[in-house]
Order: sequence, then C-alpha cells, then structure tokens
Amino acid sequence: MSEDLHNLYQDIILDHNKRPRHYGVLTDYTHTAEGYNPLCGDKITVFLIVEDTLIEAIQFEAACCAICKSSASMMTEVLTGKTLDEAESACQRVGELLSVDMDLTADLSKDGEIAALAGVRKFAARIKCATLPWHTYRSALDG
Ligand code: ZN
Repeated sequence: MSEDLHNLYQDIILDHNKRPRHYGVLTDYTHTAEGYNPLCGDKITVFLIVEDTLIEAIQFEAACCAICKSSASMMTEVLTGKTLDEAESACQRVGELLSVDMDLTADLSKDGEIAALAGVRKFAARIKCATLPWHTYRSALDG
C-alpha cells in the first residue's frame, strides 16, 4: 500500500472515531444485540429498526477502541436503507477485506470507506475490533 493511501485510510478511521455517525441508543428498535471482544475489551450495542426486509435505521453505543468505533460508524452508514440481503453482502465483503488468508486489495471507489478497514489486516490483534460491530449486527438480526 502506498504511503498516501495508508494515510488516507488512517484519516477515514480517525474521522469516524472522532465523529461517530448514528451514535446513541435507538429507543423504538425492533432488534438489538450486545457484542464483546475480550481481546481488546471492546463492548458495543447495536440497535436496528427493520421493516419487512429493509433496514430503516441502525444506531450503536460503544465503549471501545478507535478501530471498533470507526468500523461501527461506517457500518451504520453502509447499512442504513439497505435490504437485509444487501446488508449481508456488505457484511461478507468486510469479512473478506479483513481476511488475512484472502489478502484482497480494497478499492476505495468500489468499497467506499470500508476499504479503510483493510488496513487493519496488518495488525492481527485488531481484526476482531473491526469485525465486532458487524458480528453484533448479525446477532441482533438472529435475536
Ligand atoms: Zn478494540
């Protein structure tokens, strides 16, 4: 990865950490789940309002590190207004981008800001920080 791209990805993560989108309790949620990553101590709660098969709203609250919070913030931006199928595809893409075995190259123009999460792959101990919000979203759906 070029130095410029690395810095851009870092800026995206720092920005989401500083100004997390869709942050806070959603009171009239239809689904919720709590996630915990003991490796880092990240705790997150995800709230969803799902109507039929559409994600009308998604918010989160967290006591977690910058990578987890940024990933959660990006997730809320990506998943708002998506169908459950589209959301599942997005979850899978994040899993692929964070997979050390697949070692994929992220594409900012195609993947959007979640491309920045691919940079986390270099730090094996932090991968779970980035995947936690997405796993918690799935848990919320599963009840
Ligand atoms: Zn963490």
